[in-house]
Amino acid sequence: MSNQVRVRFAPSPTGYLHVGGARTALFNWLYAGNQGGKFILRIEDTDEARNTPEAMAAILDGLRWLGLDWDEGPEVGGDRGPYYQSQRKGIYDAYLAQLEAADRVYTEENGAVRFKFSREPITIPDLVCGDVALAGTEEPDMTLRRPDGSYIFHFVNVVDDIEMGITHVIRGEDHLSNTWKHIDLFHAFGKTPPVYAHIPLILNPDGTKMSKRDQGASVVSYMDAGYLPQAVFNYLCMLGWTPKAETEKLSAREMATLFDPKQIHSANARFDEKKAVWFNAQYLRELPQDELYALARPFLVKEGFSIQNEDMAARAVYSVREKISLLGELKGWTHYFFNEDYPYEAEVVTKLNAKTENKALLQAAAETFASMNQWDETSLHDALEKTAAAQSVKAGALMPLLRFALTGQNRGPGVTTILDLVGKDSSLRRIERTLQTV
Ligand code: GLU
Repeated sequence: MSNQVRVRFAPSPTGYLHVGGARTALFNWLYAGNQGGKFILRIEDTDEARNTPEAMAAILDGLRWLGLDWDEGPEVGGDRGPYYQSQRKGIYDAYLAQLEAADRVYTEENGAVRFKFSREPITIPDLVCGDVALAGTEEPDMTLRRPDGSYIFHFVNVVDDIEMGITHVIRGEDHLSNTWKHIDLFHAFGKTPPVYAHIPLILNPDGTKMSKRDQGASVVSYMDAGYLPQAVFNYLCMLGWTPKAETEKLSAREMATLFDPKQIHSANARFDEKKAVWFNAQYLRELPQDELYALARPFLVKEGFSIQNEDMAARAVYSVREKISLLGELKGWTHYFFNEDYPYEAEVVTKLNAKTENKALLQAAAETFASMNQWDETSLHDALEKTAAAQSVKAGALMPLLRFALTGQNRGPGVTTILDLVGKDSSLRRIERTLQTV
């Protein structure tokens, strides 16, 4: 056998992909990357009653969204498959026969097959938690196969880790209390157990256990809110791991280079939404225009915006990239680019009507614009300066009025940017409508 590191993520498709699960997958992926090893995805779908195709799809989608490609597993294949436990019954039967031959199991009257624990003290050498001694001397013998012929989690989990050549098991701390049972099984099969790293839970900000309904619990909630996958990737990795680096903002490749499971904190991590949003804002503003637009476009479509011109839409999104932290905020910052019939915020109406000369200023600007042949940010800037001077006001007084007229609101990218993006005809219509309605 080669010494190649082989790690796995082994979700049960019974619900959505939880951030805790996603982080477990991330740490495994990073470790495979760090070691030049293989990352395997194994679906633990033996609980027929609780598995759903929706949950299965959510897990695969979530992993793909995060950029966690697996070397072996569903849809990818590999020579240690099948990678769905529901398709591996023959393998489990053969392993059970081994234990029968070694006299380590017995069958109950009801047909259940039980494993005789060795009853020897077992120490789990854990990379995160240190040595954990857990001897289940009082525990009754463990059922491996139920009377209906189905196998229990502990058995199939161990058999598959053996069959798939798993060298390191990085998983949630909730499994630590049962790991001695797994080690006892490895020994019964005459195998050396893998190296373990049990990672602490992710808690709510108030220290309570995260439940399904809690904010940020599901990976889908990040997708829906408009997080970027690379930001969630980075943020989740920093929940419970502090790399030896100058900054926490690191690419997947950098994290893989630095990753060491021994550095994972042994204390539980707390979810921190502000920090997650901060990461996202950092990633958002450094994306090139086309990449940002590819991620942003579904959000515009979801809002029902009518995109007439893809290039203009891409530039519009790019123009507000420093104003937003999440793509879900795009609506409030870009709706007027896609609709000339935008509402006027109350504050805008009040301000436009505060002085009688405001409308005259807008009128003067409209006249200047109407006479322009060249329509770009530089010419627009010059035109605004000239108009303001002719009206004896500062350009700084004219700008907010134009912004109100062009967008109906008091925030957005630079006025010349808006003018340039919506174009001359639309700019004139917008000012005209404002003069008529406000
Ligand atoms: N199916 C188990 C879970 O989802 C996997 C545990 C393990 O990684 O060994 O918790």
